[in-house]
Amino acid sequence: MPAITLPDGSQRQFDHAVSIADIAQDIGPGLAKAALAGRVDGRLVDTAHVVDADARVAIVTGKDEEGLEIIRHSTAHLLAQAVQQLFPQAQVTIGPVIENGFYYDFAFERAFTPEDLEAIEAQMRKLAGADLPVRREVMQRDEAIEYFNGIGEHYKAEIIADIPADQQISLYRQGDWVDLCRGPHVPSTGFLKAFKLTSVAGAYWRGNSSNEMLQRIYGTAWPDRKALKKYLVRLEEAERRDHRRIGKDLDLFSLQEDAGGGLVFWHPKGARIRRVMEDFWRDQHVAAGYELLYTPHIALQTLWDTSGHTDFYREGMYEPMVEDERLYQLKPMNCPFHVLIYKNALRSHRDLPMRWAELGTVYRHEMSGALHGLMRVRGFTQDDAHIFCREEQIADEIVAILDLTLDTLAAFGFDDFAIELSTRPEKAVGSDEIWDKATAALRAALQAKEIDFAVDEGGGAFYGPKIDVKIRDAIGRQWQCSTVQLDFNLPERFDMEYVAEDGARHRPIMIHRALLGSLERFFGILIEHYEGRFPAWLAPVQAVILNITDRQDKYALEIEETLKNQGFRVETDLRNEKIGFKIRQHTLQRVPYLLVVGDREAESNTVAVRTRSGEDLGSLSTDEFAQRLRTEVAGRGLATLED
Ligand SMILES: [Zn+2]
Ligand SMILES: [Zn+2]
Repeated sequence: MPAITLPDGSQRQFDHAVSIADIAQDIGPGLAKAALAGRVDGRLVDTAHVVDADARVAIVTGKDEEGLEIIRHSTAHLLAQAVQQLFPQAQVTIGPVIENGFYYDFAFERAFTPEDLEAIEAQMRKLAGADLPVRREVMQRDEAIEYFNGIGEHYKAEIIADIPADQQISLYRQGDWVDLCRGPHVPSTGFLKAFKLTSVAGAYWRGNSSNEMLQRIYGTAWPDRKALKKYLVRLEEAERRDHRRIGKDLDLFSLQEDAGGGLVFWHPKGARIRRVMEDFWRDQHVAAGYELLYTPHIALQTLWDTSGHTDFYREGMYEPMVEDERLYQLKPMNCPFHVLIYKNALRSHRDLPMRWAELGTVYRHEMSGALHGLMRVRGFTQDDAHIFCREEQIADEIVAILDLTLDTLAAFGFDDFAIELSTRPEKAVGSDEIWDKATAALRAALQAKEIDFAVDEGGGAFYGPKIDVKIRDAIGRQWQCSTVQLDFNLPERFDMEYVAEDGARHRPIMIHRALLGSLERFFGILIEHYEGRFPAWLAPVQAVILNITDRQDKYALEIEETLKNQGFRVETDLRNEKIGFKIRQHTLQRVPYLLVVGDREAESNTVAVRTRSGEDLGSLSTDEFAQRLRTEVAGRGLATLED
């Protein structure tokens, strides 16, 4: 009879077969009430699962990562049950768990409205309140196909048809409602206490745009109401910062459906910010010993055959275009272009390291459903660079790259990083010796800089180890931006060489690296990080001059000219509106400084300075203000007068 070993090593003997629920009860009534599922010798099972032989058993509750997944997954079923009770014509398809929640796709004749979502959520609460037991049943595959076709669920039948014929299919029944599922599930619907439906969107069946459009309902679920509330507050915060909304309110950029999805249009104010970002980036690179390159947007497909991209990166590339019976490829990467420039001359060991940077615009195929504002697009500009160096130069180059990376990110207001080193995967090109040396160099560089980092063993690309840098934004979200990637593959494929001291030919090491990642995505992150309140060095308008009456028109324009002549981005608002109205409007536009001029200021040659956060800095002469702004701009993201 079963001896059950618990995670703490203790054992319990039973003289009969026992369910997970029995074992939880035997440990204590509190655990019995909290038990959502069990883990038997590593395998997740329902609480009703019966153990009849010796096993290691853990009780899964809402405190465990798996428990949280079970809650979310079970809530997706609850959603589907509620939808089908309210809308019997809706067919169910799939309902997976995602970060922070779940979704469920339904085949339905129209989009669900916000009122529908409310009604569905109310129905879900009713079903949860009824505390319906959730029971597992098993069918043969063909029997299950027949069953689901019989109840008009053709999508489910199609999913099951993809499962091998000899496999048993598990179904879950709650009340009179049944869904196909591998499980496990909560023991009864009463365990689902803290959930909320968040949004609805269209999605293609099986993610394929030639298939029919389904209605996807998103929701979130948590073990208790407190955790749900905390998440909803965070969500609200993220929504308030949504770069798509702020981008529109501040007239920074747009995505034009007339031009196709995932293509970014930078409006004048967004373009001003981009120019500042680019100028800063170029200056930083030149100071760090880089040369700047420009390369074309298309090239013969044969180049991509040589690099291997048509082979291992095919799905990320657009179809080639034909010119003079030859195929040209829109570039998904800049790397091979930099290699061609390298190969344009015979290189000597004295030429190395060569550091070449380019703001290179690339085009990558993304499914339309995956596109998201500036965060996921089809055309974007990488802040790319390639370093060609000798083996013994790797360590110094990595240290220099890390310096440049952290300095640059700090200037944009990010100083909280999570860094990860990824090492050799099972399948890899290059000798063990070079992998060991290179990985040791990356590790040494991180240690030399006294940076905490995690190691993802085996997580490197097949062509080399890498370092990834994630930044944490103002509300604690992490974004992967910078990456430093060693490459033992391209130099081989392109037969790159340099002449060493002894006259022999050697292969250079190639390092790919990006600091910001993509300018478009980084801009999106910046907008959300600052909530559109860009520091003065980035702000598209650094100060706006507001007259109180038309008597100060001339004076206001003089100040504008003075400040513009010093390189500041300044505007004047001479509209015949109340000063309070003008202040409110430019505050909403997040202009860092509002310079109010009335008769008193015009007579005394001053401006009354207010910040967008409402602080009154008093009267300053134009020179005094310019001096303060200049100091602030020079300090970039690290210094602000204002906050
Ligand atoms: Zn399920
Ligand atoms: Zn590259």
